[in-house]
Amino acid sequence: MNIETRGLGAGSYPDAPDIEEYTGPVCSKCGDPRELHDLREVDGELMCRWCLEDYYLDNCRDEYWGFIETPEQQYEFAVKHWFSELEPQEQARIALEAFQREFSSPFPQRQNLRDEIIRDYVEQGKSDFADYIESKAELRIKRGAA
Ligand SMILES: [Zn+2]
Repeated sequence: MNIETRGLGAGSYPDAPDIEEYTGPVCSKCGDPRELHDLREVDGELMCRWCLEDYYLDNCRDEYWGFIETPEQQYEFAVKHWFSELEPQEQARIALEAFQREFSSPFPQRQNLRDEIIRDYVEQGKSDFADYIESKAELRIKRGAA
């Protein structure tokens, strides 16, 4: 071992000993040394977990949609990842289309449920609703008088 001290006094440290050349397994992508059991052979290359993640992401695009599989993932993707990032106007347009489709069934129970949901909403703003109806009535009277 080659020990030399730099500078003088009590703060001096010997140089680090020469590091022996590493000959163990390495990841073929990033070159990092790994334990063999932490490497995985895919398409003839030994890769560490981190490089494997990137490799799958780039090479398995056909599997993206299939990955969104469980109800939890579907909620994460559809609601939290996609829908919540849209402009409010866009959210309203898409949600209203879904609402119409959801209740487009000819079954009277579905129609009744739909009408109930709408009524609940209008009831919460019934003062505004009354103004709305009166303004329409005024328009009708004006038109009738013309
Ligand atoms: Zn790697």
